[in-house]
Amino acid sequence: MIVSPRGAARLRSGHVWVYQSDIKSARNIAPASTVSVYDDHASFYGTALYSSTSQIAIRMLGSQAIPAERTAEVVAERVRAAIHYRRNVVRDTNAYRVVFSEADFLPGLIVDRYNDMLSLQVLTQAMDQAPVREAVLRELVQELDPVCIVERVEPRIRELEQLPPLEGGVIWTRDGAQPKSSTTFTMNGLRFQYDAHGGQKTGAFLDQRENYSAAERYAHGRALDVFCYQGGFALHLARTCEQVTGVDASRPALEIANQNAALNAGLYNGREIEWVEANAFDLLRDYSDGGEEYDTVVLDPPAFAKTKRTLDTAVRGYKELNLRALKMVKAGGVLVTCSCSYHVSEAEFLQMLTSAAVDARRQVRILEKRVQAQDHPVLLTVPETSYLKCIICQIT
Ligand code: SAH
Repeated sequence: MIVSPRGAARLRSGHVWVYQSDIKSARNIAPASTVSVYDDHASFYGTALYSSTSQIAIRMLGSQAIPAERTAEVVAERVRAAIHYRRNVVRDTNAYRVVFSEADFLPGLIVDRYNDMLSLQVLTQAMDQAPVREAVLRELVQELDPVCIVERVEPRIRELEQLPPLEGGVIWTRDGAQPKSSTTFTMNGLRFQYDAHGGQKTGAFLDQRENYSAAERYAHGRALDVFCYQGGFALHLARTCEQVTGVDASRPALEIANQNAALNAGLYNGREIEWVEANAFDLLRDYSDGGEEYDTVVLDPPAFAKTKRTLDTAVRGYKELNLRALKMVKAGGVLVTCSCSYHVSEAEFLQMLTSAAVDARRQVRILEKRVQAQDHPVLLTVPETSYLKCIICQIT
């Protein structure tokens, strides 16, 4: 496989992707192949996994030579390494991301653990090959001893990769165990339910796990969790706040949030969390115009900037939300504001927040600048692996 000078430069910078437009020759290379990567001058760059239909044509496995027949073995070693890495960095939870694709040198594979269940997602042709799948399952079972493994299928991704359609669901069950599709997990001492059939992503937003605890440390008084989904922040806030309201546009998410609250009712001294189904933009406008005040506000919207092109609109969206929230936070109160858009950098996000603070005429003191939890590792040379911003501030 020969890559263009631009593709080669990208690899030299430490990135692991080469786009289709930077492939000079892929003649006679079968989909899903393990390929050796060279530039125009026959310099060797390493070994990659090839997708014949993806925009991202090759994803590097490493700078060494890896024979095709060793691919499954290398994948197995990396799954083991990913699991071992987490033994050092994951605390107070039995739900976390076990494998995070490129960030674990396993491009195209995502695995999450929810207590006794694992959820697996295959995103590329190479990771879909039978020997690779078998190697992955073998390692997961051996190292983590799950009761059940489910596969989460995004039909659109299989279509793009020209992979045959696949039903999601249970793909492995421990001998003698009944297949199951739901379980309860514990995170930071709180209980949550996981349902393999519902939910967004692969269930919960595990990347916010450490930020939930951080937010809880500062939260107090009357709290508002905007874009609360199944209650991740709200349930944590309810341990320290007098009153908590969670807001989301999705009724199914709020129903699960309510069930999650019930699972932890004993921790809340009889206080109930209020769940409001609403469009966050409308609700924040109405509440701030109506003079509502809160001691703690959390903003955790979905990724507004899916692509670079939508960046301006995204930043306007973030600013509108943050401006409204800043107006409602009482003096001495706390704002926890997040963005999971990779395309909005931390610097751009802070700039947006600065401009919202100026417009709202509030002083904002940064308490913490946080990122995704450590089970979602960041590779310095692959900027796409760093996407979550969580800024905790004190408002005066
Ligand atoms: N804070 C959550 C994750 C939020 S994900 C957690 O930690 O688990 C983003 C959420 O925003 C989703 O639940 C989605 O239903 C909701 N959402 C998207 N657009 C919305 C809108 N305009 N108004 C309210 N909620 C919205």
